[in-house]
Order: sequence, then C-alpha cells, then structure tokens
Amino acid sequence: MQQRRPGFPARIPLVSGAAKPMAAPPARAAGFPAAALPTGLGLDSAAVRARMVQRLGAAGITMPKVLEAMGAVERHRFVDSGLVNQAYEDTSLPIGLGQTISKPSIVARMAELLLGAELVRTSGSLGRVLEIGTGCGYQAAVLSRLVREVYSIERLRGLHDKARAHLRPLRLANVHLLFGDGMLGFVQGAPYAGIVAAAGGSAIPPQWCEQLAVGGRLVAPIAGADGRQMLLVVDKTAHGLKQTVLESVHFVPLKSGVA
Ligand code: SAH
Repeated sequence: MQQRRPGFPARIPLVSGAAKPMAAPPARAAGFPAAALPTGLGLDSAAVRARMVQRLGAAGITMPKVLEAMGAVERHRFVDSGLVNQAYEDTSLPIGLGQTISKPSIVARMAELLLGAELVRTSGSLGRVLEIGTGCGYQAAVLSRLVREVYSIERLRGLHDKARAHLRPLRLANVHLLFGDGMLGFVQGAPYAGIVAAAGGSAIPPQWCEQLAVGGRLVAPIAGADGRQMLLVVDKTAHGLKQTVLESVHFVPLKSGVA
C-alpha cells in the first residue's frame, strides 16, 4: 500500500487501549480559511447551508457540534460544477468512477454515532478516527472538525487525487489521506477511537475490530442475507464486541484491492 501523510508527526505511538491523541494542531477557529466562493453560481452558500442544518435538526440530528460542522463545511466544493445547485439537498450525488458523495443526513448521523463512543464519555473527545472510503473528501472534512485526527483511505486513485485537490485549499492539518485497500484497515494508525465506513460489504473485516481501541466505536453499513444494507454500530468494550443494528441505509459496495 502506498500512502502519504502530509504534516503527520514523525511517529505514531502504538499504544494499546485508549487512542492517545498525537500532538494535535491547535483547536481550529470557527470556519475554514476564507476563500472566495466559486463565482457565477448564484449560490448564497452560507444561507443555503443554514437551511440544510435546520432540516438536519428537524430530521433528528441533535448534537450541536455535529450541526455546527455540517454548517461549516462547504459541500458544494466537493461536487462537480454541474451539480453545485444540488449540493445542499439531502441527496447523494455522483463524484465520478461510479461512486457517490453520501447524503448530508447520513454523514451527520454517522458522525453523531461515532461521538457516542464510550471513549468520548471517558476522555471528553475522540482521538484518531479511520474513515474507509474517502470518496471526494467531504466526510473527512466534516470529521476533521469533530475529532483529533482523521485517517481516510480510498481504493480508487482517481478519487484519492480528487479528495486531495478538494481538501488542499482547506489546509486541514489533522486529515491524512491514504491510498489503499481499506478492508485491511490501516494498522500503522491503530488503535482508532472510531472507524467509519462509507461503503458496505456483507461482513465487517476482522482488521477493523482489531484496530479499534477499547472504548472505541465502529459505524458501518452491512448487507444482510437479503442484500438489504443496515447501519451497524460495534462498540469495543473490555469484555468484547457489542453490536447494534440500526436503520436501513444505501451505500456503494465495499470492494477489495486498489484501482
Ligand atoms: N466519504 C465519502 C463517500 C464516498 S463513497 C463522502 O464524503 O461522501 C464510498 C467510497 O468508498 C468510494 O469512493 C469507494 O471507492 C470507496 N471504497 C470502497 N471500498 C473501499 C475499500 N476497500 N477501501 C477504501 N475505499 C473503498
């Protein structure tokens, strides 16, 4: 697996148990660095985003931090120019190579679930999080505002490069983009306080559970025997793994290998 970790501290302490945050960048001030909006789009992006956040609240997202992050990340920057006017609708959109950007409500839902990890109750925040399926980089940008470090892995080179281009102007020092097969997790960064998958298979790869810290939480879609995908939460406790199956979801398939 090839990987690049810009701005990454020299060495990852491989500790067992709770994920120890590495030298974290200073807390980010509200808002990303000011950058000019794309011109000619006729889009008042802050107001449109505020309405999206209102709808997320009405749909049951309650954590103020999550709503704040959803309001701050400019989703229209992560989609192709022809789709910009749909960027704040609650819909998934094509991002190329047959993949999609997840709809805002599921990004917010998964973020909320991750923040429900036991480690957040015991240590106040979430340390390292591994995202499987970077896609265009949107969810990684949202997570960067909610957790200490985001490792995000993508198996399609074209999308890995696209995410890199989308995230570069945002200069998020705590996001590390990796190119590789996320079914193997990313052992060099383990243990993770959280693991979130944006693609669904018929089983959870054992590496994900192995690479989860005690007190950490995994959130992933999983397909049942009937092919229907459900959202699954796995909590790693001192006594073992505790699984909870939640609502039905629609994610692109989890695939092995890189392309
Ligand atoms: N997180 C994205 C969603 C991207 S769609 C967002 O912000 O909207 C899911 C992505 O998972 C696709 O880009 C797909 O290529 C990727 N994927 C599927 N299987 C994978 C694997 N084994 N390792 C890494 N990425 C994978």
